[in-house]
Order: sequence, then C-alpha cells, then structure tokens
Amino acid sequence: MTEKTKTVPWTDTILYQRPEEEYISVKRELVADAQCPACDSKDVRRYPIVNWMGARIVTKCQACFHVLDMRETVREDKWPPYWPVTHDWAVSPAEQGRRRK
Ligand SMILES: [Zn+2]
Repeated sequence: MTEKTKTVPWTDTILYQRPEEEYISVKRELVADAQCPACDSKDVRRYPIVNWMGARIVTKCQACFHVLDMRETVREDKWPPYWPVTHDWAVSPAEQGRRRK
C-alpha cells in the first residue's frame, strides 16, 4: 500500500486520546431491512468485536444472538483502535516462500 492509497494516517491507528467519557460502550448500528433467519427478529445490529480470530465486524441478531455475518476489519472501520504499523505492508519474499509450502 502506498501513501497515496492510505485513507487513514498510520498515526491515527497507534496514537489516540485518553477517553473522556465516564463509561465506554460500543455503538451497535441497526441494520435496515435485515431480519434474523433463526427467530425472525428485525433487531439486527452491526458492531465491532474481538473473538478468538481477532478483531472482526459482526452482524448479529440481538434477540437470539444468531450471527448473520462476520468479516475482517479494514482501516476505515477504525477497529481495533490500535493496529500494528506493519499491518498492511507487503510481505517479504522470504515470508512469501514460507507461505507457499
Ligand atoms: Zn434471531
């Protein structure tokens, strides 16, 4: 990734202000026109999580917790708030060789 294609400066992913809110919470965005296939609830929300695979964005029914979708994050998600500086660097030739085997 070149500097021109980056939309979020790398400093924004490792430097951030101390929270000023008394309580920290995650905003769960309501997904319009979504319906849970398991329980037919329309209370389906999308929000960031961390599970055993790492940081993800999940779309989940709030009535029965059925997972409708889960994807890896991109920088624009600003989740997690801190990314390794080298996260989207090109993999070295030595690392590419190791992955092919
Ligand atoms: Zn449901």
